[in-house]
Amino acid sequence: MNSSRVVFCDFDGTITTKDTFVSVIEKFAPQATAQFLPAIFQRKISLKEGLNNILGAISTRDYPAIIRFMATQPVRPGLKEFIEFLNSQTIPFVVISGGLTGMVKTVLEHQQLMAGVTAIYAGEVDITGDFLQPYCEISSDTEFVAKAIIMAQYSAEEKIAIGDSVTDINMSLAADLVFARDRLKHYLDTENKPYVQWHDFFEIRDYLAASWQVNE
Ligand SMILES: [Mg+2]
Repeated sequence: MNSSRVVFCDFDGTITTKDTFVSVIEKFAPQATAQFLPAIFQRKISLKEGLNNILGAISTRDYPAIIRFMATQPVRPGLKEFIEFLNSQTIPFVVISGGLTGMVKTVLEHQQLMAGVTAIYAGEVDITGDFLQPYCEISSDTEFVAKAIIMAQYSAEEKIAIGDSVTDINMSLAADLVFARDRLKHYLDTENKPYVQWHDFFEIRDYLAASWQVNE
């Protein structure tokens, strides 16, 4: 896809107000989460290794409950208006989640925002066995969902990344402009990667409208 600008947006803790993926794994795989999540945040083990272990500890029987749990999760203020703004400028809005497609779609459908989303990239799960078996078509040695590889498939003069946590480090390093909140700010400080702090999508819309000199 060729566009002069593309926005790549994380899902859990970015579109959703809480890190919903962490909420799900804490609720449905408490032991594995306690064992592996701190090491993921400390970057001592890869996202891929950690998530395989954690998701693989969730019973397939719990999957419908996970989807039900997700449906009611709130999204961050201004998301609808931000998507409308990007649509009006014909700038793609691409959601890249280190979590699961089923969780992402449930929330966006519940908010009736799917129509404005250009594409969704996230992990999948095989639910034919006793436990979830995660897989992703675009994976790397270290990332369950290889966000930078997905970004590389889009040619654009300005790639914008929006994120909040450990799954967004590589995505941010590959971006021309980064909006970071929460843990991601600290990771990017460590990587010496500049970023713009943000709290809600109104701020991002206003920042981009001003920098592109277009009307909201
Ligand atoms: Mg996140």
